[in-house]
Amino acid sequence: MSQTIYNVLVREKEVFKPITDGHVMMYVCGPTVYDNSHLGHAKTYVSFDVVVRWLRYSGYKVRYVQNITDVGHLLDDGEDRILKGARREKVEPMEIVERYMRSYFEDMDAIGVARPDISPRASAHIPEQIEMIQELIAKGHAYEVDGTVYYSVESFKEYGKLSGRRVEEMEAGKRIAVRDEKHHPMDFVLWIKAPSNHVLQWPSPWGRGYPGWHIECSAMSNKYLGATFDIHGGGVDNIFPHNECEIAQSEGAHDQIFANNWMLTGTLLVDGVKMSKSLGNFVTIKDALKQYRPEALRLFILSGLYRSPADYSAAVLDAATKGAERINTAARRARNALKTAKPGDASNNERLITLLDQYQMRFTSAMNDDFNAPLALSALFDMSKDLNTAIDEGTASQSVLERATSIYTELGGQVLGVIQPESRTAAGSGSAERESALIQMLIDMRLEARKAKDFTRADSIRNQLSKIGVILEDGPNGAVYRISSL
Ligand SMILES: [Zn+2]
Repeated sequence: MSQTIYNVLVREKEVFKPITDGHVMMYVCGPTVYDNSHLGHAKTYVSFDVVVRWLRYSGYKVRYVQNITDVGHLLDDGEDRILKGARREKVEPMEIVERYMRSYFEDMDAIGVARPDISPRASAHIPEQIEMIQELIAKGHAYEVDGTVYYSVESFKEYGKLSGRRVEEMEAGKRIAVRDEKHHPMDFVLWIKAPSNHVLQWPSPWGRGYPGWHIECSAMSNKYLGATFDIHGGGVDNIFPHNECEIAQSEGAHDQIFANNWMLTGTLLVDGVKMSKSLGNFVTIKDALKQYRPEALRLFILSGLYRSPADYSAAVLDAATKGAERINTAARRARNALKTAKPGDASNNERLITLLDQYQMRFTSAMNDDFNAPLALSALFDMSKDLNTAIDEGTASQSVLERATSIYTELGGQVLGVIQPESRTAAGSGSAERESALIQMLIDMRLEARKAKDFTRADSIRNQLSKIGVILEDGPNGAVYRISSL
């Protein structure tokens, strides 16, 4: 079965064909590290995390590059975001960068987003950016005015092809302050002349200055993925001007297509409105994790298509929390039942294994169809219902439970990251694994107490677990637990 991708460049689903068979070269625009990451970041990076995980699971070798913007990303009023952060916290700009880059990776680790293969920083690739700007000047796509270099949008006929905007229309409806020295109001900066007291500045052929925001993505993707690569991703909010400028720079410099496939994630809303600091509905990942478990956040994000908007609200997150509990409980139940399972009846086994195969196929065809995670998730939920019934009826044999457990581990865990890994008695690496191992240890101690007819002790363990939100449910195959939201 082949993979399809909705390619924003052509506005339709296409069969995915990588440049090199079996290899995927992928770039996703990364964060500007001047403040804590918010739920919009979570939506974008969890979505691409699942794209990468699925491609790898499908057998592709993926090189995933995601940049770190630590210079040149200006606010509307022209101030550099990093410098703004440095002023706010009264520290050096590079301290801001380190602080929030660490914070970003902490957040991504916490919500189970695997790290990119390369996380290049803009400030560490100044020579590459200068070189590309020189190429653009040589090819007539850029011009210098008094130490600042602009890209000439009129020199690139296809400017606007990704967002569907036309230069002529943009000129008519311009909101952007016009600087007289530009040839065209939409021309954008590649290199900015630095005032002498500007903290982030480098020498260049045009004097001391710093790069504009867009050029880093063109220069760094070229360095690590080549002039043309397979997938370019990002949040749809950056389609214009950022992504459009990347295309103009890269295709202007190299005369070949930049990225064959463009995948853009939908906007994150909070209670139906776009999240913004001024509206006071700004939710950081750290704050969300104080209320909800990582699996619930991932389940919320994956319950909608990556390219659709998602609406964060208490009701939706409560539902996602329950969903995450349900699927994790089912997976744990299957694992526990496996410990005492019997070979079972052959014809019954065949019927149940065929059923599990069908769920796996449903999952696979959903993910192959432009990474349709919500549909893939529904296959796992439906499978859990059938499996719970089989376990209740005592018809889930060893081979059935083995197969179910591997589906949960691979598809729910490895691919979607919504099922916690099996608790290990040996200390796990992550805190979730350790927590799960500790809970299992207490369940075993309670079982021992019950066997020794020490019911006071057994009940005490149960009650104390319940106080910290761990609810035990006794079933035919021993106790399973679920985490309730406190
Ligand atoms: Zn970018």
